[in-house]
Amino acid sequence: MPLVVAGAGRLRFLAFSLLLSLATVPTLAQLDPQTKQLSRDIFQQLIEINTTDSVGSTTVAANAIAKRLLDAGFPNQDVVVLGPNDRKGNMVARIHGTGAAKPILFIGHLDVVEALRSDWTTDPFKFIEKDGYFYGRGTQDMKESAAVLVTTFIRLKKEGFRPDRDLILALTADEEGGKSNGVNWLLKNHRDLIEAAFVLNSDAGGVDLEHGKPLTFNVEASEKLYGDYQLTATNAGGHSSLPGPDNAIYHIADALTRLQAYTFPFELNPVTRAYFARTSMLESGGTAADMKGILENPPATEALAHLSAIPKYNATIRTTCVATRLSGGHANNALPQTASANVNCRILPGHSREEIRQQLIQIFNDPKITVCYVTDAGEVKDTAPESKGVPPTELQPEVVQPLEKVVAQMWPGVPVVPVMEAGASDAKYTSEAALPTYGINGIAIDIDDVRAHGKDERVAVDSYYHGVEFYYRYVKLLSGGKS
Ligand SMILES: [Zn+2]
Repeated sequence: MPLVVAGAGRLRFLAFSLLLSLATVPTLAQLDPQTKQLSRDIFQQLIEINTTDSVGSTTVAANAIAKRLLDAGFPNQDVVVLGPNDRKGNMVARIHGTGAAKPILFIGHLDVVEALRSDWTTDPFKFIEKDGYFYGRGTQDMKESAAVLVTTFIRLKKEGFRPDRDLILALTADEEGGKSNGVNWLLKNHRDLIEAAFVLNSDAGGVDLEHGKPLTFNVEASEKLYGDYQLTATNAGGHSSLPGPDNAIYHIADALTRLQAYTFPFELNPVTRAYFARTSMLESGGTAADMKGILENPPATEALAHLSAIPKYNATIRTTCVATRLSGGHANNALPQTASANVNCRILPGHSREEIRQQLIQIFNDPKITVCYVTDAGEVKDTAPESKGVPPTELQPEVVQPLEKVVAQMWPGVPVVPVMEAGASDAKYTSEAALPTYGINGIAIDIDDVRAHGKDERVAVDSYYHGVEFYYRYVKLLSGGKS
């Protein structure tokens, strides 16, 4: 798994330290036994199909889901499995609506991060129910949400629901790693199949629990851009017994010291502004006051200083760049001919990776240092991409109004909070393709029990079934149905 997608969707960006007194225990989902069994069967089937990049196949999973949809009454022409090779298949299915509005695209990935049997207590590719949890690789990231989507599509089809717009489901390959990202491939090769007014990404957002109590319903409405930069200083070198003032290692050390002292400008966007406005109402004391303070115009200086000292808030209010690797020299008794460092940046939406490269050059202010861009594939380039992605927008009412309605039914008192993730998911491809993308799912995970990409990954049985019911209600309400 490349660093670029580390901690993608399910890594919770928020970690509140408060207990929310307003929130009550969620109303239990009223799932009929048939739907319950169906959703469990699909979940189990997906967990037990190995979809890792090393030895697995998303095609096997895509075909299994396609078969279920066809068995449920989807016509042949509305279900396709396609991809760049045998092992990296993607599944795209469609429910036709009346055409009153442009389609909605639902995305989720079928692949999972590697898992070693020897690291786990149970077999990661066996679906096991134990102590109120479902265990297996992908139970948090994100076969649970893929199973929820498939169950929802089958339910809607079986009851003959006619939405006011087409509903498109794309379950894809290589979000976690690999060379055949399915969302990217579909956008480049079959855009017509997935063209939509907006995208709902099940790999992000979700309900944060603390000790079983729901705190917030997070909607990912923006992501930072990822960028690696390589700094290099060169020198003629020579014998270390005769050092001159110029030294490649000193140049790099000076540059990194300047970077350490530099703070990128404070900047809010509609998403982070709404995030702080809502979160300030959940926090108490100084933190709440600081959050309100930075929303003033101009922001209160002290409030800004306080929040900048807390990494998760600092990462929300500015671009960050940090040294992550360092190397230099070739012998203990020789002057270094080369020294280099990697600087990793997480860039606010609305700025390009080239713009940040130019900014780094100014910060280092040293003609002896070259600043190159390093691609996801590890290639070193003289310049960086100019693309900025789509700037974040306020949550569209057509997305958020039905959402708030269903959240109020299923998690009474829990606020819907828009968040910007410091990581990256497949939303980066859809956003760059000018499709507004929101990370929404109804699976509740305790903030102390985030096990995505880790060992003994699990999801609470109740959370899962509640998520099944949530998505069904939400999709219906989104597309012209009644709650
Ligand atoms: Zn994921």
